[in-house]
Amino acid sequence: MKDFLNPAVRDIKPSGIRRFFDLVSTRKDVITLGVGEPDFVTPWHVREAAVMSLERGKTQYSSNAGMPELRDAIGTYLDSSFQVEYNPADEILVTVGGSEAIDLALRTLISPGDEILIPEPCYISYSPITVLSGGVSVGIETFAKDQFKLTAESLRKSITPKSKVLILCYPSNPTGGIMTYEDWLPIAKVVEENDLIVISDEIYAELTYGSKHVSFAAIPGMKDRTILVSGFAKAFAMTGWRIGYACGHSDIISAMLKIHQYTVMCAPVMSQYAAIEALTNGLEEKDKMIESYNQRRRLVVQGFREIGLQCHEPQGAFYAFPSIASTGLTSEQFAQRLLEEANVAAVPGDVFGLGGEGHLRCSYATSVASLTEAIDRIGNFVHKLK
Ligand code: PMP
Repeated sequence: MKDFLNPAVRDIKPSGIRRFFDLVSTRKDVITLGVGEPDFVTPWHVREAAVMSLERGKTQYSSNAGMPELRDAIGTYLDSSFQVEYNPADEILVTVGGSEAIDLALRTLISPGDEILIPEPCYISYSPITVLSGGVSVGIETFAKDQFKLTAESLRKSITPKSKVLILCYPSNPTGGIMTYEDWLPIAKVVEENDLIVISDEIYAELTYGSKHVSFAAIPGMKDRTILVSGFAKAFAMTGWRIGYACGHSDIISAMLKIHQYTVMCAPVMSQYAAIEALTNGLEEKDKMIESYNQRRRLVVQGFREIGLQCHEPQGAFYAFPSIASTGLTSEQFAQRLLEEANVAAVPGDVFGLGGEGHLRCSYATSVASLTEAIDRIGNFVHKLK
């Protein structure tokens, strides 16, 4: 039957994370630092808002772009939290998770052969969706010595006449790197000079420890060139609700809306009710969750350093990305043996593209007890390798 397949789909590799976790599911007593999702259950008042919407019989489609009340709430939230103003009427689109927003943005922008610039290591879906949309993905390596920040110099070097889109993801999955206002300014200059359009995936915007997140859309001159993608999964512990959004210039949002209305019609309505509640009454609970991630972040980074693994300080998201290069193993070998010999699962860095080899992505969104035990096991494993 493979002859029937679109070659672009046939040749895409399944997610390296899923492949690894299929292996994990065959074993017992594994501590997993693998999954990129909060270990909190969605706060009850948010769940209750969805339950109430069902009780009230709110089971119909919403407007394609999302319920006006939700778009208003997103607009107010982005303005007060990150100082970016969007008109809820035509600059905000509610999507099925940040994932759909990324897909729509890429499909809307890419013409065959366009080059899409992607700082790496990066979230695993950017490159496959680029290719499925007929684009060419061009990785730009970032380095631990620069705290995995994108530099204007490396961006400039990767640009060709075919470059069209730059995908940004800060705070970063998998590195935990962030960009400050000063870091963004030279990037914005290159974007402007080369007439690029930016997809800025800011799904971890709330999860920063120390310096507050700076949206790329808030940099002078960048708002109209930026599609801001975000969602509720990470900050509000709502991965299973499948609810996110995209914001940008009305010409682009209305084009994305065309694909959205023909493919999914609207985001799940009970999730939209839950999202309104999260933005209206859930901000304090969110802050408590973030404080808890911060404590675990410190524990994990210190733990890796004590073992003797270099670990840059992740300032955002909920991942540590230590270097395992000193062990002489590749990241695939390290992760495989760590699983088999120490019963700890973490994601080999090479699945995240350029610059990922030699690293391990460890999510610290798990209990302190599991993290402490995992660090112990990793320490013993590394010690045995010497
Ligand atoms: N962007 C990044 C960087 C992510 O890590 C994820 C989820 N792991 C997503 C987007 C997708 O989020 P959602 O669950 O809202 O689709």
